[in-house]
Amino acid sequence: MEKRTCVVCQGLFAPKSRNQKTCCKECAEIAKKQYQYTYRKEHRAEEDGAAERKTPQERMELLSKHAREAQKMRLSYGQYMARKRMEAK
Ligand SMILES: [Zn+2]
Repeated sequence: MEKRTCVVCQGLFAPKSRNQKTCCKECAEIAKKQYQYTYRKEHRAEEDGAAERKTPQERMELLSKHAREAQKMRLSYGQYMARKRMEAK
C-alpha cells in the first residue's frame, strides 16, 4: 500500500488498513479526541439555535398571520406591528 501522511503528526506511515489515518496508536487517540471535540461543538451549536431557528416557510406563515390580523383591524402592517410592540411593553 502507498504511504500516507498522518493527520496528527504529518509523518509518513504505511497504513495497515484502508481507512487508517494515523501512524500510531498515540496519534489515533489524538485524532479521536479531536473528532469528538469538533463533533460536540457542532452539535451544541445546533441545540443553541434550535429554539430560534425557523424555516423560511414558518416565518412566512407568521408574517401572513400578522398581515391578516392587521387587515382585520384596518391597520397597515407597519401600524399593526407598532401597536403590537407597544402592547408587549
Ligand atoms: Zn502520527
